[in-house]
Amino acid sequence: MQVICERCGKSENFVFSNWHCECGGAWLLQAILPVSGDSIDTHENSIWRYRGFFPVELRHPQDSLGAGFTPLLPCSIYDHKVLLKLDYLMPTGSFKDRGVELMMNALALAGVRQVVEDSSGNAGASVAAYAARLGMHASIFAPAHASPAKLAQIEVYGAQVHTIPGARQNASRAVMDAVQNGMVYASHANNPVYLLGQQTAAWEIWEQMAFHVPDWVVVPVGQGGNLLGYYEGFRALLRSGMIERLPGIIAVQPQRLAPICDAYQQGWREWMPVSAPQVGSVAEGLAITQPVRWKHIVDALDQSHGFCVRVPEEQILPAQYQLAKQGFYIEPTSAVVIAALPQIFNIVENNPRVVVSLTGSGLKSPAVQN
Ligand SMILES: [Zn+2]
Repeated sequence: MQVICERCGKSENFVFSNWHCECGGAWLLQAILPVSGDSIDTHENSIWRYRGFFPVELRHPQDSLGAGFTPLLPCSIYDHKVLLKLDYLMPTGSFKDRGVELMMNALALAGVRQVVEDSSGNAGASVAAYAARLGMHASIFAPAHASPAKLAQIEVYGAQVHTIPGARQNASRAVMDAVQNGMVYASHANNPVYLLGQQTAAWEIWEQMAFHVPDWVVVPVGQGGNLLGYYEGFRALLRSGMIERLPGIIAVQPQRLAPICDAYQQGWREWMPVSAPQVGSVAEGLAITQPVRWKHIVDALDQSHGFCVRVPEEQILPAQYQLAKQGFYIEPTSAVVIAALPQIFNIVENNPRVVVSLTGSGLKSPAVQN
């Protein structure tokens, strides 16, 4: 598989040990196949439904946990109609299973038996589950303050958990030591195959909307894999002549740490150092001070005529409860998109073709609000 560096444009044949470009940029798969309704494998009710859109060498998994093919459900929130993409209904309870199912199968097919990953919890749980399914060993580096339910989930799958004190980026530094000692990095932030798996969310929505696209897609942003999956998935449809325009992509971040909103709204050309807040947000999955693919995310907002919304901290848990009152139990990280809806509806007209991505199960981070 040919990959191209997002930062310097260098192209090479992808090998997992070479997890990023020597310039530090992340890889993207270079060959984007034409996509069409005719290539959908309608016998498959998972990401493998779109195997015809993948490079040939990725089309036949060693094993699956059935990621993907989640419902798209109409719902009324704050008196506005939206479509909820229920990506928290995944094998490990988070959207990351789309990309991880494809990435871990690619690793297994390449003969990799041991991987490392850093994560605030959900990517780690996903990598741990797929390692178990595929007969691999996983070591996960997670912040010590990660949700106990997420850490327990990682351990139950049989992965080795390394809890790292301090800010989220300390876990990223710790995994680098393991990678420098020769471990293979199964990185949801950097791996180009992961990003391809995330694109299946866009293709599902297109199919679920009778081969049309919504006007807007609302996603929480940490590393931005969900957002970029939607952007690149819809771009693949546009390039193939299957749709006439891109949906506007709306990124949502907690006000306490919103580096993508800063970069986009202030027109950053280079990354400006961002510190972790002294008191972190309850949206723990979004505690990323420097998203690896930040420029790509900013381009996605720009090219799709989207925008970025900051959510005040005190609105996040009430939004989680607001949705739970309708039966949808999502984690606080995921609830930022619900908290953002009043701001979003002030900007976009009242339009039923708004898709809201629900990314993580409430069981991941149980909390009781007083
Ligand atoms: Zn490069």
